[in-house]
Amino acid sequence: MKFYNLKENDEQVSFAGAVKQGLGKNQGLFFPENIPSFSNIDELLALPLVERSVKILYPFVNEDLTEAKLTKIVTAAFNFPAQLQPINENRSILELFHGPTLAFKDFGGRFMANCLQAFSKDKKITILTATSGDTGAAVAHAFHGIENIRVVIMYPKGKISLLQEKMFTTLGGNIETIAIDGSFDDCQALVKQAFDDRELAEQIGLNSANSINISRLLAQICYYFEAVAQLSRQKGHSKLQDIVFSVPSGNFGNLTAGLFAKAMGLPIKRFIAATNANDTVPRYLATGEWSPNDTVATMSNAMDVSNPNNWPRVEHMLKSGIVDKDCVTSFSIDEEQTQSTMLQLAKLGYITEPHAAVAYKALQYSAKDDEFGVFLGTAHPAKFKDVVESTLGQPIGLPKELADCASESILSVDMAADFAQLREFLLANNG
Ligand SMILES: *Cc1c(COP(=O)(O)O)cnc(C)c1O
Repeated sequence: MKFYNLKENDEQVSFAGAVKQGLGKNQGLFFPENIPSFSNIDELLALPLVERSVKILYPFVNEDLTEAKLTKIVTAAFNFPAQLQPINENRSILELFHGPTLAFKDFGGRFMANCLQAFSKDKKITILTATSGDTGAAVAHAFHGIENIRVVIMYPKGKISLLQEKMFTTLGGNIETIAIDGSFDDCQALVKQAFDDRELAEQIGLNSANSINISRLLAQICYYFEAVAQLSRQKGHSKLQDIVFSVPSGNFGNLTAGLFAKAMGLPIKRFIAATNANDTVPRYLATGEWSPNDTVATMSNAMDVSNPNNWPRVEHMLKSGIVDKDCVTSFSIDEEQTQSTMLQLAKLGYITEPHAAVAYKALQYSAKDDEFGVFLGTAHPAKFKDVVESTLGQPIGLPKELADCASESILSVDMAADFAQLREFLLANNG
C-alpha cells in the first residue's frame, strides 16, 4: 500500500518511506491510499493481541515487510497488555499504561522504533526530539539498545519534574540527553533548525519520531480492537451495546487511530474527543471556525496543545466520508471538573490521573443510557503523583518502573539554547 501526502497529493511513498520521512512536502501528513476493511471481525476479535495486530497492520505495510517480519516487530513492540477495567455496569477504562514508561505512547513509540530498525539497513539514523516530559521517556525506552539508531533528546533544564527527568536521562548507551538552558519552545526551535540544516540532516540521518509519524498511529489502532475483544468476552457477545469511546486528546493522534479502527469495520458507534481548557477542536466543531488561542497550562499537561498536529487527518476522514461526519463530538473540561471527577472515580474505587478524568467527565456529559462508554487511560496515576495525591488527599505508591529509575543518576549534558553548539554536538558524536 502507498501513503500519500494530504497537502501535495502527488507525493506517494511506501510505508517505509513514510516512517523514515515523517512529514511530506510542504509539511503535509501522510495518509493511506485506502483503508482495509474486515468483514470477519468476530474471527479477528477471537485472536490474541499480537496475532490480531499483525492481521490489522499487514495490509498497510505489505510493500516493505513480510508477515513474518511484521510478526517479529509487533511481538517486540507489544510486550505488555492493554487492559479493560470495569468502573460500573456501563463504563470501563482501557488502561494503556502498562508499558515501560507507563503511558500509551509506549505502543506507538515501540512499534515505530522496531520498524525504523528494520528499515534503516546499515545506514545510521539520528532521532532528535524535544520533550516536555512524556514523549522523551517513551522515545528513549523504545529505542534504547536498538542498533544503528542514536537518540538525542532535549528538554528544558529545571522545567520538568525530577521523576520525569529520571525516566529518560538515566539509560545511557544510544540515548543521549541534553538539558537546555531555556524553555520547551526553545528546544522545539532547535529541533526545527536542525531539520532545516539539510547538510547536517543528511549527514546524520535525521528523524524526529514525533506523533505525526504514521507508524505510531497505525500501532494505536490495535488497542481499540483489543478493547472491543475484551468487552465482548466480558459481556458475552450477544449483549454488546453500542460502544462509545472517549479519548483524552492533545494532538489527536489517539482519536485518529480510533477512527481508522472504525473505518476498518470495528463496531464503534461514535467517539468523544475530550480536551482540557485548550479547546480549539470543540470550538471548531461547534462554530466551524478554526481559531487556536494561546496554549494554557493545565493539570492534564500532555493535552496542553492548541494547534493539534493530527487534526488534518481527522478532518480528512470526516469530510471524505471515510467515517460518518457526525461520529465525533468534542467537549472541553475545566480544571475544577477534572479534580471533582478524580474524586468521584476514587469513590467508585478507581484511582486515576487528570487525563483519564477529563475523558470520563466528557463521557458523563455525552453518553446515553443505552450506550456502553469506554474511556482511555493514557497514563499511570503515579506519573502525576503530586496532583493525584493533593486532589485525593491520600498517598499513592510508585510502580517499579518509576521507583527503579528514581535512584539512578542523570547522564545529561548541559547546553545553552544555541544551534551552533547543538550542531557541533551532533556531528562530534556521530560515530
Ligand atoms: C500524549 C498524551 C495524550 C494526548 O494524546 P494525543 O494522541 O496527542 O491526542 C493524552 N494523555 C497522555 C497522558 C498523553 O501522554
